[in-house]
Amino acid sequence: MSTETTIKFADIRKLFPEDQWDLGFLTKDQMRICAYSPIKGKAQEYGADYTNNIHYFSIVNAIVLVKHSPESWDYSLYQDADDILKNSGLEDWFAIYTNFKEAAILSGLGVRAKNSLIYSHRFGFDMKVCAIGFDAEIVDTPAPVPITRKYWDRCDGCFDCSKACPVGAIHHESEPYWLDSSKCDDFMGFGDHPRIPSIKWFWHKYVHPEVPREMVADTKSIMDIDAPLAFDANGYTMDMMTGVNKDGKPIPVPFCRECQVQPRCSKWNGNYPYEVL
Ligand code: SF4
Ligand code: SF4
Repeated sequence: MSTETTIKFADIRKLFPEDQWDLGFLTKDQMRICAYSPIKGKAQEYGADYTNNIHYFSIVNAIVLVKHSPESWDYSLYQDADDILKNSGLEDWFAIYTNFKEAAILSGLGVRAKNSLIYSHRFGFDMKVCAIGFDAEIVDTPAPVPITRKYWDRCDGCFDCSKACPVGAIHHESEPYWLDSSKCDDFMGFGDHPRIPSIKWFWHKYVHPEVPREMVADTKSIMDIDAPLAFDANGYTMDMMTGVNKDGKPIPVPFCRECQVQPRCSKWNGNYPYEVL
């Protein structure tokens, strides 16, 4: 049972530094909408499953957290949010895994863009999203903002992200626009582009350089080795809260961001500074 029956939104808001975090609110019905808006599946172990396979337990509402992060693979916000809430002494909350894009839209934190992502009003595409459910009723919540599933105005007439995608994963030929996420995932994991990094080359360079380069270049061969792409050597580890760690500290792993860094919608002006491999 919760020790509190209500908690003010402002009391949660003030726990999260404004230069790094944006916060929104979801009612229980909005949480249902998120849960029933299909996604590929629960891609991470973190958080209770609110991706259709739902168990509402006791929570009655949630906050949505957007954290500034310009990195490709950086899910340290999960641990950061956990630490902040644990240290605050608040009780009866837990992380939930849901359709985070829908959660960001319904909580008014962002707008849908034609690259298939959410453009955060605070941090643009340089952000990650998570959500925390609360047993206590959150009161004095932000005034509801008009929710729209329309594309962001700035995307009107623009096709720069689909043109920039190196594997043609973004389809803007006609509405509904769509993302071939298998193509995207394959490129992020196993791409061999001369400029755009992929996970396998980072892994080879830093974690398992003893694996012959020819094997890494051939995706079929790399899948044949024991524990392909395991972050388990040279001080590298991986866990569900923080992602990839080096010597116990979360580190970002760079991979494709071409569809998020175009001049029309990003400060990176089409030249994202990937680590030089
Ligand atoms: S490049 Fe940016 S502004 Fe243009 S369609 Fe894609 S997301 Fe929208
Ligand atoms: S991340 Fe890269 S591969 Fe994936 S859709 Fe964007 S540009 Fe294409």
